[in-house]
Order: sequence, then structure tokens, then C-alpha cells
Amino acid sequence: MIKQIEQVAEVALYLWQKGWAERNGGNITVNITEELDADVKRLPALAGPFDIGVTLPNLKGCFFYAKGTGRRMRDLAREPMENGAIIRICDDCSHYEIIADKVVMPTSELPSHLSVHNYLIAKGSPYKASLHTHPIELVALTHSQKWMAKDVATKVLWSMIPETKAFCPRGLGMVPYMLPGSVELADATIKAIDDNYDVVMWEKHGVFAVDVDIMSAFDQVDVLNKAALIYMASRALGHEPEGMTDAQLEQMSRAFNLPK
Ligand SMILES: [Zn+2]
Repeated sequence: MIKQIEQVAEVALYLWQKGWAERNGGNITVNITEELDADVKRLPALAGPFDIGVTLPNLKGCFFYAKGTGRRMRDLAREPMENGAIIRICDDCSHYEIIADKVVMPTSELPSHLSVHNYLIAKGSPYKASLHTHPIELVALTHSQKWMAKDVATKVLWSMIPETKAFCPRGLGMVPYMLPGSVELADATIKAIDDNYDVVMWEKHGVFAVDVDIMSAFDQVDVLNKAALIYMASRALGHEPEGMTDAQLEQMSRAFNLPK
């Protein structure tokens, strides 16, 4: 099995262990085009072509691993090719075929995930992986409008421990509540990524994260959620946490050459 899919299985286990992946919650897609050898790319279609629902011109010749619709992360962790599939984007850029290992229909969120990948390629981004999951404490924050204003959560989370800013240096973009799976939510997510965030919060739902690989995308969400846990632990002790100062946060940016 190719390394990127092994990594998806490892991350799926972490998502389950963290309590972020109840039932079939969450989605993963990874652009594996560069990892596949020519023989695999030429495999006949097992099923399809299926309509993506949108035309995504930058995905011509691309291959993705996608979690299967209705499949559980905890099952995918053990058997990634029984609970996900490799798909090939057809030359018309609006259909896909399943080529391996079995006919496992991809996540219903495929159009939005692929739209994000289409955007990333257009931008020349090295990012290959997208992750949607339900991190408990980060979702809890979004049940108050106070946290939904631009960069309010980012600033508090960054200020909990220095590593948060170092390892999630673009912070947390905020998207107001929209219907799961809707075109509007996909468009708003792309807009937030374009606004220079790697991790985007969907109000009262979960996060959508992009990075070079799925482990890195997971790490960014994990780092942010850890900061939310520290915030809540401080509140549970009975105090509003002081947080690092603006000067301390700026010092981090200079010392580690961070983008914000
Ligand atoms: Zn969800």
C-alpha cells in the first residue's frame, strides 16, 4: 500500500481515539497522483464514470484516495481499502472512475473536497490532503458568537502555549453555519483558505484542514484543539487565562519566521 494511504489509516485511528469521529463522521481525501506508478494509473475502471456535479479543470489526470460514504474512521484505520477507494478523474474533469481496490463509493462530500483540491492546484500549493473532522473542544467554542468573529479564536488559541502559533501559523478561519455538503459551504471554505488559513472552522459542526499530507493536516487541528483544552482547563480552575502577550506572540513570529 502506498505511504499516503497508510498515513490516512493511522490518522483515522487517531480521530477515533480522540472522540472526533463518531459513527461515520469526518472525511479525508488525498491527492495521490505523484505516488502512483504508471501501471496503477492505467488500471481499468471498476465502476463509473460518476458525475462529480462540478467541472474541476485543474484535476485533469489526478488520482485521489477518498474515504467511502457512510464508512467509519475506526474501520478505515484497520482496512483502508475496504473503507475507501482510489479514484481517477476523467478527462472531462467532471466525472470520476473508481479504479482500486473495490467499488467503495466515495464520501458524499467528494465535490467539496475535490473543489478545494482544484483550488489548491490552481494556486500552485504543495498541499495534497484535506481533512474534515469534529474536534470536540473547538466545536464547543463555536456555540458562542463571541468566538466566531475573525481571529478572536485564533488569538486566544495562539496565546495558550507558544507552539500553537509555531505549528498552526495561519490560525483558525471561521465560517458561519451552513448546510453540510452544500455548495455554499464548499465555496465559503475555499474563500477562507484563500484568506490564508489552513484550518477552517465550520460553526457548530467541525473543522476542514489542508496541508502537505494528512498527518500534517491532523497535527494542525490537534495543536489548535490542545490550545482550546488548555483554555477550558484554565476556566475550570476559575480564572480567565492571561494568555501570552501580543509582544510575546510577535516575538514568536520573528524567531520562527511565521507567516502571520
Ligand atoms: Zn461533519
